[in-house]
Amino acid sequence: MSDQPCPVRLRTSLEGVPAYTPGKPAAPIEGVTSYKISSNENPYPPLPSVLDAVTTAAQAINRYPDMGVVMLSQALSDHLGVPVEQIATGTGSVAVLSQLVAITCEPGDEVIYAWRSFEAYPIVIALSGAQSVPVPLDADHRHDLEAMAAAITDRTRLVLVCTPNNPTGPAVREDELRAFIAKVPQDVLVVIDEAYLEFTTQDTVPDALALAAEHPNVAVLRTFSKAYGLAGLRVGYAVAHPTVATALRKAATPFGVTDLAQEAAIASLRAYDELEVRVKELVAERERVVAALREQGWEIPDAQGNFLWFPIGDDAVPFAQACQARGLMVRPFAGDGVRCTIAEPEANDRLIGSAAEWLATRPRP
Ligand SMILES: *Cc1c(COP(=O)(O)O)cnc(C)c1O
Repeated sequence: MSDQPCPVRLRTSLEGVPAYTPGKPAAPIEGVTSYKISSNENPYPPLPSVLDAVTTAAQAINRYPDMGVVMLSQALSDHLGVPVEQIATGTGSVAVLSQLVAITCEPGDEVIYAWRSFEAYPIVIALSGAQSVPVPLDADHRHDLEAMAAAITDRTRLVLVCTPNNPTGPAVREDELRAFIAKVPQDVLVVIDEAYLEFTTQDTVPDALALAAEHPNVAVLRTFSKAYGLAGLRVGYAVAHPTVATALRKAATPFGVTDLAQEAAIASLRAYDELEVRVKELVAERERVVAALREQGWEIPDAQGNFLWFPIGDDAVPFAQACQARGLMVRPFAGDGVRCTIAEPEANDRLIGSAAEWLATRPRP
């Protein structure tokens, strides 16, 4: 069967869809604890209160979840101080992203985003039949918002701003983002993807919710996968103008967000003080690792998320292999760089050690 040619006619636009490269589990090495720092996951296990909520919800998994995601939407509304009409949820913020593309783009319409940025962007856009317009990052691995504004055409329907930028690390500043939004036509939706917001420490970080309140064409995208540590449960949300949020709910997979995810998210909002302690520890570790690597001589861009970026071009794959040989699964982007998630201190120490060893064996110019 599988050795026969497949006669099924698939959409030609699929040919432009890159296949997603999943972060692999760390390969076992005799006598060495392996660490997977390739997917920007939170290294901490779920809080007991969150596990309790999930266990209780599990007793009703013979039932469909609440399709309206009513309780979580209300909890988010209370937590963020925005009307519930402005909240739309999805099975991870990647799903909300495809809803955003689905509600704004006809085939051939253009979506602008910085590149390199989140690898899901080109996949989601190509799948929808829309056209990707990637705009190169600047020399500091930051969004070039002026170039992004200049790339807007009559076909542009959506602009994605990833801040902090995955995988390179820097966050945009409030003043530059405001100046950018002022240049975007009002019928083009600007999405501020804040998957790593909780890890940012720069004082000029934009108040994206305020921007969304001021501009009907600005939406904020957030997730429970990173700071909240719920990557495995798949829940994210957008805050947007009620008309946009209503459209997003139309485009959602029915019953997509499970009750397990909803209850875990509500419990996590309640327990944010406890989660924040962990976020602060990860931020402190990030500062420690970035300082150690710069001390070794590496050029590490400003790191505002729970990860850091080695912009090492063609060394990306061999460096990742060297890390892997030491029980550290990192995320190489061939020809471009390597992204490493900040994890438990032992994993971070392993990274510092691997980087030092790499320099010792392959001196940089
Ligand atoms: C991890 C990540 C997300 C979140 O994805 P989920 O689908 O919510 O798990 C969104 N945007 C960016 C830039 C990310 O890195």
